[in-house]
Amino acid sequence: MSAHRPSVVIVGAGPRGIGLIERIAANASELYAGSGLDLHLVDPHPPGAGRIWRAAQSPLLWMNSHAEDVTMFTDETVAMAGPVAEGPTLHEWAGIDGRTFADRQLQGTYLRWFYERAVAALPPSVTVHHHPRRALRVSGPREGRQQVWLEDRPRPLLADLVVLALGHLDAELDQEQGQLAAYAGEHGLVHLPPDFTADSDLSPLAPGEPVLVRGFGLAFVDLMVLLTEGRGGRYDGDTYVPSGREPVLYVGSRRGVPYHAKIGYDWTGERPPLPRFFGPAEVDALLARPEGFDFRRDVWPLVEKELGFAHYHRLFTVHPERTAVDWSVFEEKYAAEGDPSGRADLVASAVPDPADRLDLAALDRPLEGVRYGSFEEFQEGLRGYVEGDLGRRHDRAYSPDLAVFLGLLSVYGQLVRLGDIGPWWHGFFSCLASGPPGPRLRQMLALSRAGVLKFLGAGLTVVAEDGVFRASSATVPGCSVEARALVEARLPEPTVGRARDPLLRELHADGAAETPEGLLRVDPADGRVLDRAGRPHPRRFALGPYTDSRTPGAFTRPRTGGPAFRQNDATARAALLFLRELAGCAAA
Ligand SMILES: Cc1cc2nc3c(=O)[nH]c(=O)nc-3n(C[C@H](O)[C@H](O)[C@H](O)COP(=O)(O)OP(=O)(O)OC[C@H]3O[C@@H](n4cnc5c(N)ncnc54)[C@H](O)[C@@H]3O)c2cc1C
Repeated sequence: MSAHRPSVVIVGAGPRGIGLIERIAANASELYAGSGLDLHLVDPHPPGAGRIWRAAQSPLLWMNSHAEDVTMFTDETVAMAGPVAEGPTLHEWAGIDGRTFADRQLQGTYLRWFYERAVAALPPSVTVHHHPRRALRVSGPREGRQQVWLEDRPRPLLADLVVLALGHLDAELDQEQGQLAAYAGEHGLVHLPPDFTADSDLSPLAPGEPVLVRGFGLAFVDLMVLLTEGRGGRYDGDTYVPSGREPVLYVGSRRGVPYHAKIGYDWTGERPPLPRFFGPAEVDALLARPEGFDFRRDVWPLVEKELGFAHYHRLFTVHPERTAVDWSVFEEKYAAEGDPSGRADLVASAVPDPADRLDLAALDRPLEGVRYGSFEEFQEGLRGYVEGDLGRRHDRAYSPDLAVFLGLLSVYGQLVRLGDIGPWWHGFFSCLASGPPGPRLRQMLALSRAGVLKFLGAGLTVVAEDGVFRASSATVPGCSVEARALVEARLPEPTVGRARDPLLRELHADGAAETPEGLLRVDPADGRVLDRAGRPHPRRFALGPYTDSRTPGAFTRPRTGGPAFRQNDATARAALLFLRELAGCAAA
């Protein structure tokens, strides 16, 4: 008999932490029957919903996924060793229309239900304990039991294994943010650094006052909602009726446009046969290169070819009338053409309408090289752009766009094996595949027409000078806007070194390795934390957006092979095998 009852501590009880519990339950009968186990779940927020999906937040905040595209359950498309355990998507579970953008509170309820179901599926010998507090530190030798120190607890939890599922991290200010904050302090300005918007105190943003906002992604949408409807404004059809308590938002970013609208129709018909040009064999070849690989030089051309394949497969098979040759002819030439400019010539000769050609650079940077003479003209121009994007993304005639979306998911699933390949890819992916719900973009247009929202353009720069913040952009050269408030509408960078959480900083100080971008390095096979010599820690695991095995950072769509599910399964199995061996040693 073991000298102690085996114990696992999971820090973080959001979707990732509870997904791991579900996988432990699914694999326990095969890998770990009988010896008993204490599962300690540490999170100040309620298990399931965790911080992001907790009930205590504004009901105005929505998910940016259709309810039918959100599942916590595996299916046979997930390439994993453990058993599939099917269950309902959010819309099936909640009995709502699959096209609904549910509010975050509802998603939290689904997650709570999923958590309770996962706990109920654990063998009777496994007991779950929730500790509603923060974990501060993990200590202990590589070869021995770990101690997990909790806030306001003099004694640590003892753990044979520790799994960190910490999610999105709060961060200390970087140099630029620190300088802006100091300037704001000296001059009585308001500066809100990168943060989880639902947790920010927005009360310093005064009614009628101009506010510069840097960032046009999903954090901006949350900010926009909280400062408009959240302050008593309402929509009368396509018209915004202000409450008078809104500030005036001036938004810009590197791209200067919002992310592309969420696609508003379902897939029908044959899926593009993916992977085709970027699959396991190509990833194996990249990993086998003794000299390593460079994303732009070696990986991106494969990604580009794969996304083009998805796009043209759909166009040629569903809209042959918009093409000039047969698919079989095009496909053969496309496959044989290794050079991107050769492929562009092929496309130009076979696809007459430029609107039917895939131009990834233009999709990524629609304002590149575009100039306006004044901010007034640009407002009109950007509204036109958003209307065009909304129209296209809700028009089935452009379903090759949805094929590209499927291509992006497929590519992401492959890229995960290469470790983190840098922030550019994540931004590109989010802009194309993780944009706001159509209704949010329509609200943006209404707010723009009401004068509550103004667009600044691309290549945004903000300087602190003359006692104010001053913003200018490449889109409207020679013009600038001044304000006494600046909001950085984005999540903090997920870097280990600047994490405000002492847990990760200490882990780093204790030898855990990070990538040049500051992500925690983990073993792609099972999520074990790597040290600076590349050795996996036998007893410490990490999953989630702050690791170099980060996945698309969204809930899994049914039947898309969810890499996060695959990772959860691998980590659960590695943990159970370790515990089994431990029990075997103790019994021997
Ligand atoms: C604002 C926002 C909106 C999003 N909206 C969508 C969406 O609409 N659709 C979609 O598909 N994806 C969305 N995402 C992506 C989202 O990241 C994932 O869906 C999911 O929440 C990630 O799960 P997680 O468990 O890894 O992290 P989290 O949900 O962040 O959970 C991590 C948990 O760890 C806990 N924790 C952290 N540190 C400690 C510590 N030291 N001690 C104890 N507990 C700790 C936190 O309290 C938290 O509850 C959104 C993300 C954000 C930030």
